[in-house]
Amino acid sequence: KGPDPDLVVIAERMATVKHKILVLSGKGGVGKSTFSAQLSFALAAMDFQVGLLDIDICGPSIPKMLGLEGQEIHQSNLGWSPVYVDSNLGVMSVGFMIPDPDEAVIWRGPRKNGLIKNFLKEVYWNELDFLVVDAPPGTSDEHISIVQCLGATGIDGAIIVTTPQQVSLIDVRKEINFCKKVGVRVLGVVENMSGLSQPMMDFKFIRMTETGEHRDVSEWVREYVREKAPELQNLIACSEVFDSSSGGAEKMCKEMGVPFLGKVPLDPQLCKAAEEGRSCFSDQKCQVSAPALKIIIERL
Ligand code: ADP
Repeated sequence: KGPDPDLVVIAERMATVKHKILVLSGKGGVGKSTFSAQLSFALAAMDFQVGLLDIDICGPSIPKMLGLEGQEIHQSNLGWSPVYVDSNLGVMSVGFMIPDPDEAVIWRGPRKNGLIKNFLKEVYWNELDFLVVDAPPGTSDEHISIVQCLGATGIDGAIIVTTPQQVSLIDVRKEINFCKKVGVRVLGVVENMSGLSQPMMDFKFIRMTETGEHRDVSEWVREYVREKAPELQNLIACSEVFDSSSGGAEKMCKEMGVPFLGKVPLDPQLCKAAEEGRSCFSDQKCQVSAPALKIIIERL
């Protein structure tokens, strides 16, 4: 029996891609797509040729996070063309194939695997320095499929995104064990939504009245600070949102022998940038999340 013809085609397509990185998470909603999107923006800003492949078939959020909602894929004689944010940042997502973004995609394993295979076979990425693959949460058919198609040795490694909560960390262990089992190197773990940080003057201040009502006194507080204590205006207020007293992701990384890449706080400005499909790195307002993400990306 000869080699699988699909894998031969994929190997030819991937021959022009220098590095392949998987972005994984144990659970949904921890910021995996946000990280994939911002990592791609950052690499593109460093003048690398970048491709972002979204294989989160049941919940593709990458088109929105790159400001490409409603765009469509075009075909040429070379294959399916990615949708370009910039000449050096191309994106492919199942989201481009669904005309109605509110429509649910309910597919069984074999169909998902078929689509992933097709993405890898058909998309013409041209020369890429990095292909960032945004995988669905957990360890399911799609993960096995992507590892089989690219070959464990063909993948440079996986970045795992988590929040500090125990429930998320338990699933990260599973994710690390999956990588070990299939032979994919873990590049490291990112702790996202690690506390809330934002400039103090952006907070809303509430006073409880005697009758139990909430009164917004933000303007009064800001006015007070500006007049009486202007040096406080530049403070960044930080708060632990989730219980990370157990040491969180960093401790787990030590135990499991994988690198800990760093923490990104919950930052309303990052959320806004992601919602609006922008890079947080060129946004002056992302004063807390952008520097944290930059440090993590430089560690890779
Ligand atoms: P996942 O891909 O893990 O399901 P998403 O990347 O879609 O998660 O993130 C879920 C939501 O949380 C999005 O609205 C995103 O903008 C927001 N988000 C992610 N990380 C942060 C952060 N550090 N600060 C603020 N909002 C964030």
